[in-house]
Amino acid sequence: MRIVLVGPPGAGKGTQAAFLAKNLSIPHISTGDLFRANISQGTELGKKAKAYMDAGDLVPDEVTIGMAKDRMEQADAVNGFLLDGFPRNVSQAEALDSMLQGADMKLDAVLDLEVPEDEVVKRIAGRRICRNDSAHVFHVSYKAPKTEGVCDACGGELYQRPDDTEDTVRNRLDVYHTQTEPIIDYYKAQGLVVTISALGEVQDVTRRAMGALNKSEG
Ligand code: ADP
Repeated sequence: MRIVLVGPPGAGKGTQAAFLAKNLSIPHISTGDLFRANISQGTELGKKAKAYMDAGDLVPDEVTIGMAKDRMEQADAVNGFLLDGFPRNVSQAEALDSMLQGADMKLDAVLDLEVPEDEVVKRIAGRRICRNDSAHVFHVSYKAPKTEGVCDACGGELYQRPDDTEDTVRNRLDVYHTQTEPIIDYYKAQGLVVTISALGEVQDVTRRAMGALNKSEG
């Protein structure tokens, strides 16, 4: 299956993507994670991306589209993938369409995670992420780790993403509404969008998502 995950920052895309990718045996491709890996390795691409990310703005398409394409062309992605954080505007969606058409492939579904805005701000402000694995996500009040600052899953160090501060979150939400939300209509016109609520327990959301994807497939 080829799936795109959309939803505002804090919707739980990364958390859900990790479970869904495992259930569906497809790689989880997160452009945010790819950028963060480039930044921590000090690559040229990482240097270009950092200032945009820290401000909560989109990294320019010239950088993003090539990186996403390279990743999708790797061997593990030939039979499908779950895209998390890409496309993030209409021109990226068009680039993805033409790339897929060129390879005689198509998307199966666009899964839209819905969360109210006040919930998003609460989730992000308290979010702490493991340095070893971005799927190990905690929250200072909703899902506190047993030991402060230490990942329950692997003992890694927990940190707050530099773009998870209140001002930057507001800008990321603005960017989401103005640039990313229009891709939902773009994909609705192709009949691909399935919308689910991302409220509640992580496992419940995963179950809802699997149910919606199975239905959209059949
Ligand atoms: P979230 O979904 O919580 O906002 P991500 O990890 O997906 O977090 O993205 C973090 C940042 O990485 C974005 O705010 C943006 O700066 C950059 N980024 C990720 N994906 C893209 C993309 N497709 N196009 C442009 N910038 C991107």
